[in-house]
Amino acid sequence: MSITGDSLNPINELITANNVDLNNCDREQVQYPGSIQPHGFMIVLQEATYQIVQVSSNVSELLGIPPNHLLGQPLAKLLDPLQADSIARNLAKEAFQGAPHHLARLTLAGREFDVLVHRIEASLILEFELRPLAAQVSDTNKNLFPAVHQAISKMSIAPSLQSFFDQAAAQVKSFTGYDRVMVYKFMDDGSGWVCSEALSEGLEPFLGLHYPPTDIPLPARRLFSLTWVRHQPDIGYRPVRMVPELNPMSGRPLDMSYASLRSVSVMYVDYLKNMGTHSSLVMTLMREGKLWGLIACHHHSGPKYVPYEIRGACEILAHMLSLLMSARESEEQADFSLSLKSRHSAFVAAAVSRGDYAIASDTDASTLLQLVRATGAAAFVNGQITCVGQTPETRQILEIITWLNTQPKQAVFSTDCLSSYFPSAQSFAANCAGLIVLCFNNPQNDSFLWFRPEILQTVNWAGDPNKPVDLSDDGQRLMPRTSFALWQETVRWKSEPWLELELAAVKELRNSLLDLVLRKAEEFGRLYQNLKLSYSELDAFAYAASHDLKEPLRGIHAYAEMLLEESAEKLDPASLAKLESVRRLSARMDQLINSLLAYSRIGRESLLNEEVDLNTVLAEALDSLSELSRQRPATIGIMPNLPSFRGDRQRILEVFTNLISNALKYNDKSDRIIEIGVRSIGPSGVPLLFVRDNGIGIPEHHHEDIFRIFHRLHAKDAFGGGNGAGLTIVRKIIDLHGGRIWIESKLSEGTAFLFSFGPLQAGLESE
Ligand code: ADP
Repeated sequence: MSITGDSLNPINELITANNVDLNNCDREQVQYPGSIQPHGFMIVLQEATYQIVQVSSNVSELLGIPPNHLLGQPLAKLLDPLQADSIARNLAKEAFQGAPHHLARLTLAGREFDVLVHRIEASLILEFELRPLAAQVSDTNKNLFPAVHQAISKMSIAPSLQSFFDQAAAQVKSFTGYDRVMVYKFMDDGSGWVCSEALSEGLEPFLGLHYPPTDIPLPARRLFSLTWVRHQPDIGYRPVRMVPELNPMSGRPLDMSYASLRSVSVMYVDYLKNMGTHSSLVMTLMREGKLWGLIACHHHSGPKYVPYEIRGACEILAHMLSLLMSARESEEQADFSLSLKSRHSAFVAAAVSRGDYAIASDTDASTLLQLVRATGAAAFVNGQITCVGQTPETRQILEIITWLNTQPKQAVFSTDCLSSYFPSAQSFAANCAGLIVLCFNNPQNDSFLWFRPEILQTVNWAGDPNKPVDLSDDGQRLMPRTSFALWQETVRWKSEPWLELELAAVKELRNSLLDLVLRKAEEFGRLYQNLKLSYSELDAFAYAASHDLKEPLRGIHAYAEMLLEESAEKLDPASLAKLESVRRLSARMDQLINSLLAYSRIGRESLLNEEVDLNTVLAEALDSLSELSRQRPATIGIMPNLPSFRGDRQRILEVFTNLISNALKYNDKSDRIIEIGVRSIGPSGVPLLFVRDNGIGIPEHHHEDIFRIFHRLHAKDAFGGGNGAGLTIVRKIIDLHGGRIWIESKLSEGTAFLFSFGPLQAGLESE
């Protein structure tokens, strides 16, 4: 395959070494450099006539022949007749498509050359690579076959993909003698990652570094997929121009996609120089016909020439490596998938045996975490959050859940850039840039969440991403290293992407746990129905009982009064005291029955849903308590401009009257202070209200008891007395509104009642 017209950029501007910069390097036509590297010369023959149509200008230095003397001439002008004849015969035999073939080794002008040939379009390209002096070729290269054989057998027994790469890097290093050999993997976004490295002593390791996609732009990646090995013996070379510059047959620079002497992009040369590299050899790694990565060899101690036969051996290695690697990677993927399945089964088995899928143990936690190789996970079950690993704060997790509930329902939500959906996630991207949420879609909004941090926080950068843009010496061209800054923009707020395999594992987990959810929902439903029935029966009973009790009680009270009025003088003092007790106790019992009646009435009568202005409700409550506040004076502070909300005004008034009267009563300070107001307002507009006093306080272990009917913490006459039904009625009214009430209190310092008349946003309770 050749890269020709179809790869020209759409705006028809030929971007070559002459006009490339960082903005257009992804469109540079690197296959048309118009020049070669100087460790050889190039002759282009017209296929039909075998006449020389282009020649590299260094023929004059290497052979002492001016380029013009060769143009339009046959090969024999350059070679002796025997050589020319043998080459012509060979050329006629084969197509020589694709990568260059080694045709011959011959001596010209007293120097040895390897002759490589390949065909492109209507041209035959002959490359004459200058062989190094024997002394420059290291000993390791002498016995190539055993060396290749040994390298392949070592790689094939490597126990894991990582050790396989490590072996490959070590083998290529000993093979070529390069200072640094890196196995470089392309990621989905075109960026690269050094996954293995063999290194000479004293060099700075690049292992684990990430490189932005601009470092190896698309045209270069395309050429990598065409040829297995590319070599730049001396990065500091001066390019040798082709004469003439344009190929006479095509009318444009020669297509050097496959040429071994091809001059490389100036951007690439700058790039290698920046890394302190003097020579490079790059091999392609392919997987299933696609570019997977590279083996990049860099030499830091000076130029290094690798002769053709060693490059040939490297090519075999790259082929073998690609094949073995594909098999290894598939194997590892299968292993990963298997281990996901076993974690999945372990979690499901534990959940089923417990009848509950919340995280209940450390094993559950680590199983959940490893299910998708997340750095953190959380389970939100029945309004409770359990976290494991590196997660956002509970408050932030609740924000995510609340936001997700406003989105169209889905079973599994996943992203590697949460802030592109939910901008405030930027503030916790260090813990959660990538997110998977498994939603059970049940009424409690139970869900599992997995988090991955922002990639900027996790990767090692090959260079300083904050470095300002540099200009090269001539002030014209951007240096390739500055591309980090550009890429930093593109990966900001993103995490490593989730694998398909991982998303599939989450979906599978959901399916397996759904059964459990359904069972639980059914169970809840049954319980709820039973409870509803018991409550309404209880209400009916309390109403009937208290109603029926009132009648005889009224009789007892009336008779006791009558006796006291009519026969007081006839009775001895002891009988008189007993009769007094009957009157007092029957009056008290009447009060209790009234409270019980009031309580049961709340459940029987339906709740109104009207606009309630809190300011007027409070004014009315204080008005009705004027007698009590005259006896127990207090400073009552009410926040200005209290909001309105929907509810049953009369009942809400009852709640405030009750709480304020308690705040007045249970206070032994000389300067009683009561504060009333709104602590916060949730997104649904439901205010969290408070009534706070500086009174006697309530011990923590009684925070629940005091809401039980007829439950008092003090003697009935202490603090102005009470029958212990007030807070029970308060709680019932609040429950009926779908709200909550709870206490914050310190003994001798005071008590705050916090409450709402509607569901609060989860999380506000803990503020
Ligand atoms: P009561 O009619 O006895 O006041 P409640 O149901 O209103 O009944 O309150 C139950 C008990 O809770 C009270 O007996 C009191 O001991 C305690 N209590 C209620 N409010 C306060 C408060 N603001 N400070 C201290 N204790 C309180």
